[in-house]
Amino acid sequence: MNRSVDLLILGAGPTGLGAAARAEALGMNWRLLEASPGPGGLASSFVDERGFTWDLGGHVQFSHYEEFDRLMDWILGPEGWLTHERESWVRFGDRWVPYPFQYNLHRLTPEDRDRCLAGLKNAKGGRAVSFGDWMDRSFGEGIAELFLRPYNFKVWGFPPEEMDCQWMGDRVAAPDMARVMRALETGEDNRGWGPNAVFRFPKRGGTGAVWRAVADELPRSRMAYGDAAVSVDAANRGVRSRNGEELRYDNLISTVPLDGLVRMCPGVVAAEEAARLRYASTHVIGLGLKGTPPESLRGKCWMYFPGVNSPYYRVTVFSHYSPENVPRPGEQWSLMAEVSETVHKPVDRETLLRETVRGLREDGLLPEDTEVLSTVHRVLPRGYPVPFSGRDGVVDPMLRAFEAKGIYSRGRFGAWKYEVSNQDHSFMQGRECVNRIHSGGGPECEPTLHDPVSVNRR
Ligand SMILES: Cc1cc2nc3c(=O)[nH]c(=O)nc-3n(C[C@H](O)[C@H](O)[C@H](O)COP(=O)(O)OP(=O)(O)OC[C@H]3O[C@@H](n4cnc5c(N)ncnc54)[C@H](O)[C@@H]3O)c2cc1C
Repeated sequence: MNRSVDLLILGAGPTGLGAAARAEALGMNWRLLEASPGPGGLASSFVDERGFTWDLGGHVQFSHYEEFDRLMDWILGPEGWLTHERESWVRFGDRWVPYPFQYNLHRLTPEDRDRCLAGLKNAKGGRAVSFGDWMDRSFGEGIAELFLRPYNFKVWGFPPEEMDCQWMGDRVAAPDMARVMRALETGEDNRGWGPNAVFRFPKRGGTGAVWRAVADELPRSRMAYGDAAVSVDAANRGVRSRNGEELRYDNLISTVPLDGLVRMCPGVVAAEEAARLRYASTHVIGLGLKGTPPESLRGKCWMYFPGVNSPYYRVTVFSHYSPENVPRPGEQWSLMAEVSETVHKPVDRETLLRETVRGLREDGLLPEDTEVLSTVHRVLPRGYPVPFSGRDGVVDPMLRAFEAKGIYSRGRFGAWKYEVSNQDHSFMQGRECVNRIHSGGGPECEPTLHDPVSVNRR
């Protein structure tokens, strides 16, 4: 069929749904194609064969936008959410250190503590040229070598010297000597730092429940699930889908990973440019367990693991987010581990599950006698858009070249900007982009994409 619309949207993740909801409110003639059978993208959830609910990586909800918060309140209703105070910890050798590590040095051995403190006192500050340089300048040798470098390599899978440091904003706690010293003097933990110190999670259905509810508010006749765009003809403003649909558009919002869009839409951006984009794949490993968590995990939400003894960088006690994440609340619990894979950090997919279980036992998260009822292993080919050195110089011209053809590449991998790629940012990227298209305005209509520092300061 040959159809013509004002706005065509590719993808029903948070970005595509944000765009669709806004287009619907503005009375535009829009249509959406989604490759998967349902909505949610990376923010979707599934139930395994034994009845355990899983997200694709531990998702928590916190936001920088009142508008987004209002929508979330309304979409699941006040009864639909559970609110938690973040309890996150760093596993450091055989110790637990509250997050952020740098504010809780009193938990370290005297030797490590002195090394971190000496580094902090000698940190030279000043303008950094890379993420690695930023760690050294801001925190000094001790914290950088003991925690920041090993941990960040496990997350990003890239040497920090190949990463930029402009993206951090509210994501990494900057050193505050007074705070560090106060904790050392009083021995009191510092826990409340950061934008997600309080977060919420859907009572039922995992994070995906949010996006299913958002999609359900939109007219079904405008949404095509299980139908991927396979080619984009930028010159004639047309898209061909896997199921053979030919769609004409005035404007296109694509949430497909940017390098995928370049391949689908030849002649706008050179393939060599797309090859410069850096990303990490994410392995999500879930264990559905019998019984109750060990005492050492009581109250813990998620934990960071800089150590080389385990493959994962983060483990979430997923059953703490909602008792309904297990089929028999009170009698079962669940753990979810995340592992990054990149060109610099290969992963043996055959042994990963075994290595994860071994690490969990060694780290004291999984007592020997715990019965494992269910295991899942999902690979997200695109998990983290890496803020590599020179990223904006690569990405921004690509986005502008597409915009000149009426194609707006937005979202976590559409715009490739990690600092504005959470659910709230993604939803707002879609929404703001429609505002821009509808009003005929410029980049100022899209503060999330073009002014991330101000947005993240909110
Ligand atoms: C491990 C992990 C942990 C995270 N934790 C958090 C968290 O704690 N809090 C938080 O707020 N956010 C978190 N996020 C981020 C969150 O998942 C993203 O913000 C969000 O999913 C991005 O939305 P999006 O729509 O831009 O992209 P996606 O969710 O990737 O959606 C893109 C959609 O496009 C579809 N698509 C792809 N190709 C085509 C095609 N050719 N045609 C049609 N459709 C196509 C895909 O199927 C997909 O549904 C996390 C992400 C990961 C990976």
